[in-house]
Amino acid sequence: MLLDHLNRQLRERAAQSLTRTRRTAETPCAPQQRVAAGLGVESQSARDMLAFASNDYLGLAQHPVLIDALAEGARRYGAGSGASHLVSGHSRAHAQLEAELASWLAPHIPQAQALYFCTGYMANVALVQALSAQSATIFADKLNHASLVDGALLSKAPFQRYAHRNLAVLERQLAACDTPIKLIVTDAVFSMDGDLADLPAMLALAEQYDAWLVVDDAHGFGVLGAQGRGSLAHFGLRSERLIYMGTLGKAVGAGGAFVAAHPTIVEWLVQTARPYIYTTAAPPAIAHAVSASLALIASAEGEQRRAQLQQRVVQLRTGLAVLIAAYPAAGWQLADSATAIQPLVVGDNAAAMALSAALDTQGLWVPAIRPPTVPVGTARLRITLSAAHSAADVQRLLDGLALAAKDLYDRTSD
Ligand SMILES: *Cc1c(COP(=O)(O)O)cnc(C)c1O
Repeated sequence: MLLDHLNRQLRERAAQSLTRTRRTAETPCAPQQRVAAGLGVESQSARDMLAFASNDYLGLAQHPVLIDALAEGARRYGAGSGASHLVSGHSRAHAQLEAELASWLAPHIPQAQALYFCTGYMANVALVQALSAQSATIFADKLNHASLVDGALLSKAPFQRYAHRNLAVLERQLAACDTPIKLIVTDAVFSMDGDLADLPAMLALAEQYDAWLVVDDAHGFGVLGAQGRGSLAHFGLRSERLIYMGTLGKAVGAGGAFVAAHPTIVEWLVQTARPYIYTTAAPPAIAHAVSASLALIASAEGEQRRAQLQQRVVQLRTGLAVLIAAYPAAGWQLADSATAIQPLVVGDNAAAMALSAALDTQGLWVPAIRPPTVPVGTARLRITLSAAHSAADVQRLLDGLALAAKDLYDRTSD
């Protein structure tokens, strides 16, 4: 009965081109990756691909400094933490990392303290749920990451969503709200679009309406602002009302996440946040590797990697604009993004899948993103760039897209 039910629904998803599949990487996360299609462990079908798919924006996931730090951390602290943070799993490596993260955010959040989480998903659920348990209303951009949405749903607090970046609507909602606590929750860099939230204007609204601003900087930390300190540094913001979440598995190249905020907020999370309390602490070696990554990110090498990434972004956007003009029949749209996330919006699910498949046959790995991750009718290729991509890599992608466009759209428009 259950299986019949599930199989029927799986078939329906397949009919709408919504089936998701995994690929098995046989080599580290990098532009050049050896990957096998599907779930199998057989490596006969593995192919070398040029990938524009990861969030490893600075190319640090396989950096020797991080790998050495991970190994050294394992020798020093072992392979696992053995327990949750509040029982016995909190190690010197976690404490050290939290102190470093707190000092990174201190210019932007007075008295900032930091709390390390196993994942960004858990940090967001913890944060939104724990803070809104106290008669709050949550205000959220419609394109926020799923983890922020799930935190709000779990909290059962009143949940008001506004159209993407529409601060006029947000202001009306704030003005009409009469709960004692108001939480504005936003991605800083929107994960499927690459555009930025107007954080300065949002902070001004928070101040005007006595609200708090929760900033999810999963795609900004390490990349934006001086020394890669993230979106708050990029905009030069400072306020006690800021509650910051950064992830450590994307640009930082390791894993986990953290919340930085006023000490009272961090203490409240430690005491009450269920995704913090009821889970085994991440292996201390990962925290040790993150510390090494932070030093690298703030260094001259970090600066150089960010500059290189920015050059690739400009190169790709210039090339895409030419392609879009050459193939109007494709209906492609270039997103308004200056970040490493460069979506090419195709529209239809099947068309996005066909384009991704056409690139795949050329050895190019660019994932198609479909609803419910993005709104219906806006299926897209989510192209992500990294400092590890060369100019030749980006040119190969542009050439591949031109070939695919010729194949898919020249014939239909004839
Ligand atoms: C990836 C992501 C998260 C989740 O972080 P993980 O560490 O991968 O769990 C949260 N928010 C945004 C905007 C993200 O893109």
